[in-house]
Order: sequence, then C-alpha cells, then structure tokens
Amino acid sequence: MALVTGGGTGIGLAIGERLARDGYDLAIASRSADHLRAGAERLRSAGARVLEVPTDVRDAAQVEQLVDRVRRDFGRLDLLVNNAAGNFIAPAESISPNGWRAVVGIVLDGTFLCSRAAFPLLVASPRAAIVNIVAAYAWMAGPGTAPSAAAKAGVLALTRTLAVEWARHRIRVNAVAPGPVRTEGTDRQLWVSPALVEAIVAGIPMGRFGTPEEIAHAVAFLASPEAGYITGQVLAVDGGQWLGRGVLDLLAHVPARTD
Ligand code: NAP
Repeated sequence: MALVTGGGTGIGLAIGERLARDGYDLAIASRSADHLRAGAERLRSAGARVLEVPTDVRDAAQVEQLVDRVRRDFGRLDLLVNNAAGNFIAPAESISPNGWRAVVGIVLDGTFLCSRAAFPLLVASPRAAIVNIVAAYAWMAGPGTAPSAAAKAGVLALTRTLAVEWARHRIRVNAVAPGPVRTEGTDRQLWVSPALVEAIVAGIPMGRFGTPEEIAHAVAFLASPEAGYITGQVLAVDGGQWLGRGVLDLLAHVPARTD
C-alpha cells in the first residue's frame, strides 16, 4: 500500500498509475479535492483501491489525520512518495518572505512531516520504503528557483539522514531527481516560453524532455524488493542533464550515429 503526496496530477499521478499496475493500493493527498477526484478516477481504472484525502502537507495536524485515515482504511503502509511541491521562477532578491515560506513549507517541511507521521506504519511493514522527489539543483545551483533549490537540498540531506537513522528499522529512504518533464503544472509555472523550452532541450545530452512515466519507473524500482540493499541514494532521471556537456564539447560538430 502506497501513499503519494501530490498524487492527483502530473508526475505524482504517473507514479500512482505505475504503482497501481504493480499491485499497490493507493492513498493520494493534496490540497485540491478536484485534483484528487480526477486522479483517483484514473488510478481506479488502473485497478487500484484508492483513498483520496485533501491535505496541506505543510500542516502537521492535517498530515497526522491523513496517516490516521490510511491506518483505518488499509491498516498498513509500505511506501511513502513525497512528491508534493510548489515552485515559481523569480530572482532571489525579489522573493517575498511568504513566497519563500510557501515553497520551503511544501517541499521541506511537508517531506519531514509526512515521513515523521508515516514512521509508525512503515516500521510495521516488511518492505518499507520512502522515495522523495527532488531535482538536480538539490546539489547544483538553481538560479531562478532559490526556494525550491534550497528546499530540495534540504530534502536530499533528509533522505540521507533518515536512510541512516531508519536503516535499523528496515525503512529504506531514497530520492529520484527528475530532469525537465512537461506536465500541466510545469507548463504553467516553469516552461513559460518556447524559447526557454528550446534552450532547455539544447542543454540535455539526450536532447529531449523526460516523461512522467520515466520518473515513475525509477520510483517503482527504488520501492521494489530488487532495490532492497539501496538506501540513501539519489537517482537522476534526466537524460544526462545535470552532467551537462562538459567544459569543452569536442563532439558537438561530429555527426551522431544514424543506424
Ligand atoms: P505538479 O503537477 O504541479 O505537482 C505538484 C503537486 O503537489 C500537485 O498535485 C499539487 O496538488 C501538490 N501540492 C502543492 N502544494 C501542496 C500542499 N501544500 N499540500 C499538498 N499537496 C500540494 O508538478 P509535477 O511536475 O508533477 O511535480 C511533481 C514533483 O516532481 C515535484 O516534487 C517537483 O518538484 C518534481 N520535479 C518536477 C520536474 C518537472 O520538470 N516537472 C523536474 C524536477 C523535479 P494540489 O494543487 O491539489 O495541492
């Protein structure tokens, strides 16, 4: 049984669909009842039993209630996917304290609050795992997205710290760092012009955006028994984006294979 925050839209929904196909029952949680209703419908058609719980992950009491619902309805929790996030593009000097707090609250506080609340159920699972969704600017620079970069860096530190603290409870904690993926949310908030999309693609060695399904495969792998000896790791699913093209891309003008 898996709990996916932000599971009604975008990458979170693709993760839920993949987990449903793998046989998980699901709980999805986010603020908007509309997002949850639409997401739950799709997950049910993928074969899962689905619980939708409107929740603001910044609010400790709401998160406790969410986990209580999971306990009452399913009696177990095997996988927590901390996927909920907020983001916007702005130069750091123009970001208001509220804008900062909103993003850091969802991403960093939300990940901690959900992990903490889920701990008693995860401890009782024979195959417990947490997968946190981060981004490469957790360890690189994130110009234009300072609150998200700082919060994701915190989530990555939390991933490694909980991996060590909770290893003795047999809870594995890993992260997936998606490269750029087009979703309704990111098209609205991040990929705001064709010129920006083109520039992003030009910087990706594999020359394309990723898909929500490709991110979901990585989450499913890290959650699976096949990854049973992997903890505290971050898996970048980004077409090589964070590696960049090197300081000197000597092959830039050599034709690629065509066969
Ligand atoms: P998205 O569709 O906008 O997903 C964000 C989700 O978070 C929504 O379902 C939203 O639902 C939920 N959410 C926002 N605030 C919340 C709150 N306070 N409490 C609970 N839920 C909240 O965007 P996405 O692209 O799929 O992003 C999913 C994850 O991938 C995020 O962690 C993002 O940082 C990461 N990521 C995405 C990309 C990309 O290119 N798409 C790249 C790197 C990393 P409600 O509005 O209903 O609350």
